[in-house]
Amino acid sequence: MNLQAKIAAFFGILACCLIASVLAIGLFSFRQYSIATATEHIRSSAEMLRVSLTEEMINGVIAKRESLLVRMLEVEGLKSVRIVRGPQVAQQFGKGLLREQSADEIERRVLGSGQAEFGLVDATGEGESEIIFRGTIPYIATNRGSPNCLMCHQVAEGTVLGAVTITMSIDHLKRKAILTLSLMVAAVTLFSLVTFFLLRRLTYPIVETATHVEKAVQRALEGDFKSQIVVRTDDEIGHIAGEMNRLLNHLDNGLNRINDMVTQLTNHAPNDGNGNLLNSTIEMVETLTEAAHFKQAIEEDETKSEIYIRLSGAIAGLFDIHHYSIYEVLAGRKQMMPVLVDGQIRGPCSWCDPQILVRNETCRARRTGHIVNSIATPDICFAFKPPEDLPGCRHICFPIIQSGTVGSVLQLLAPAAELDRIDKLVPYISVYLREAAPVLEAKRLTETLRESNLRDPMTGLHNRRFLEESVEMLVAQSQRHKSPLSILMLDLDYFKMVNDVYGHDVGDTVLKVLAKLLAESVRTSDYVIRYGGEEFLILLQDTDAAAATDVAEKIRAAVEDLKVQVASGMLQKTISIGISALPDDSDTFWQAVKFADVALYHAKETGRNRVVRFTKDLWEKQDNKKNY
Ligand code: GH3
Ligand code: MG
Ligand code: MG
Repeated sequence: MNLQAKIAAFFGILACCLIASVLAIGLFSFRQYSIATATEHIRSSAEMLRVSLTEEMINGVIAKRESLLVRMLEVEGLKSVRIVRGPQVAQQFGKGLLREQSADEIERRVLGSGQAEFGLVDATGEGESEIIFRGTIPYIATNRGSPNCLMCHQVAEGTVLGAVTITMSIDHLKRKAILTLSLMVAAVTLFSLVTFFLLRRLTYPIVETATHVEKAVQRALEGDFKSQIVVRTDDEIGHIAGEMNRLLNHLDNGLNRINDMVTQLTNHAPNDGNGNLLNSTIEMVETLTEAAHFKQAIEEDETKSEIYIRLSGAIAGLFDIHHYSIYEVLAGRKQMMPVLVDGQIRGPCSWCDPQILVRNETCRARRTGHIVNSIATPDICFAFKPPEDLPGCRHICFPIIQSGTVGSVLQLLAPAAELDRIDKLVPYISVYLREAAPVLEAKRLTETLRESNLRDPMTGLHNRRFLEESVEMLVAQSQRHKSPLSILMLDLDYFKMVNDVYGHDVGDTVLKVLAKLLAESVRTSDYVIRYGGEEFLILLQDTDAAAATDVAEKIRAAVEDLKVQVASGMLQKTISIGISALPDDSDTFWQAVKFADVALYHAKETGRNRVVRFTKDLWEKQDNKKNY
């Protein structure tokens, strides 16, 4: 209930109470007044009648009293006048007129008691609506004055001689009462109405200002601070309105400034025009803050994989999206590979034509560098193959730009029931990706640089530095798993001759072809290292010396069969291989390498194009000089 309604109700109730009080008091007073007036009137009339009757008795015309009684009715308001004789008068003078004998119950009581009785008469039964007041007054014998009662009546003083019953209409009094009461009610009503309208006029600015403040606060809660409140008066209420306007302007300016800054930072206006500007700005600022923490965390991560895992955590944890893929575009190649699918590292390519893995141009986000959103534009990308178990699902692919090109692609899958929710997340996720992109780029450069330091540029194989850095980890791993680690030391036979005969370039070609052959001859868990000029070292994990001998033999045979195309025809070379194994031959890695080297020396010594397994006697035989 608002203030105006409360005031109206208050005055309504007050007016009703006043009118009821006025009516109750008025009615009671008028009733008392009417009865008192009528009583007095009847007493006066009775006294007048008594005097007249006495006079008629003295003058001896009492027999004509009938006419006196009729004339009495000429007294204003009197309806009837009747006298009855008391028993002693009747005894002395006879019963009198017929009408003087018929005493009713009241008259009998009055004759007996000598006490006057007054009261309203129920006249409804007679078809009249008049209010009749009746009084029955006794005439008591006294000896006061001269002549007096006892001079004619032979009765004792104080005897009830008779009684007079007078009725009179009090309707005129009732009419006066109704008129007076109506005027009083009208006056009270008028007073209440005037007071109500005056007060309403006085409270109008308060109520209007309060209503406007309430509406302004409601709109402010919805993010709209543009409301202004009309300043109606130059008092406290007007000041409240003015100060409220100042506050709203301040908040509006502040929000707009924050909004502009957020728009600059995110390339996205927090409000799309329909929602709550304040809430969407708060959400965006929260996202920016969380994204800043995210950036700080990923900057301290060691590898790209850790960054992808953290990004995947944000997608699932913060944005509640559980179907997504992160693809990495392989630098300088046409391929891309899934690095994380639904939180699974190197999961399978699930929602796209696998063609994108070998020809990344078929990935629209990769090719265009723009967000590809099939919620906004269905069927935008032909490579998207929605899964059958998620009918009606759509996708959004975000390119992650690194070094000016698309380095990675984040694909989100939106189930049919979540299209709206996920579509609205695009600006928020973009903020995260924008933070992640430069860090991923830096990590990619670092990893590339590091990788290049650990690889031989000509053959693409790991180099000796890689071996030095990884050896500890490899040996520890082999010891932890209690698995053997075999070492093959390889050296091309008479390679110098190739350079001498065909030139250095042909020598390089032979080395490259050989490197490829070696890499293809072992498992991906094994390591092929270019150890020196035309010396290679192969580490076979979880492989004992016997199995390593088989691998070495296979390699030797493959090299023997290898034909390298040179200008003058086909070139064929052979290779010698020495083998040692951990922990059979030695507990220390570098000593095992030395033993493999000794075995290789022995292979060279014993005719080349051979595989030699290290044995202790070879160590004893060798003269500690490497002269092959
Ligand atoms: P052996 O059978 O005893 O091993 O005879 P060899 O001629 O192969 O002798 P050695 O292993 O000592 O020869 C190494 C030669 O390999 C010396 C060098 O000219 C050549 N070489 C080393 N690195 C490269 C390279 O990167 N490119 C080319 N073209 N030749 C290289
Ligand atoms: Mg050599
Ligand atoms: Mg050699």
